[in-house]
Amino acid sequence: MIDLARIRKQVLRFGGLNFPPTTPEGWLELCKVLQRRCQTMDHIERVIDRWIENEEDVPKPVQLSRLCADVPADPTIENLILPPACDECGPEGLWRFVERIGPDGVPVSAYARCLCARGRQLAVADAKRALELEEAAKKRKQPGSLTRIDGPRKEIG
Ligand SMILES: [Zn+2]
Repeated sequence: MIDLARIRKQVLRFGGLNFPPTTPEGWLELCKVLQRRCQTMDHIERVIDRWIENEEDVPKPVQLSRLCADVPADPTIENLILPPACDECGPEGLWRFVERIGPDGVPVSAYARCLCARGRQLAVADAKRALELEEAAKKRKQPGSLTRIDGPRKEIG
């Protein structure tokens, strides 16, 4: 688990945004969310970067918690340098149209990652991301991790 003092240094970057917590406890709540949700300082920094780039107000703990789930812990997923799209998945380069046999034997149209180099890289990223989300969900289900020792949360601001 990452030391709260280290997390606090990063969390104070929110200080330039609107409606910062008015009590040390308010700041501590934000630190605790990051401590529970992130395994590495790198992940914490990227979560905070993402918020600061997009928002004007300091996040509420619940918002920060959601963002931790949205920002991948593995930076290679976000910083993919992809080959150009091919004819089949272009111009967006995200999906290609495929026909699959549905459960009742009837062909259904679906979108799938392309078979070109770009599509294969995206498919790998999809799999990594799915695994990450699965592990995060498992962690949340572990007994004990849901135990809260602090009282009901008070919204500040
Ligand atoms: Zn393609």
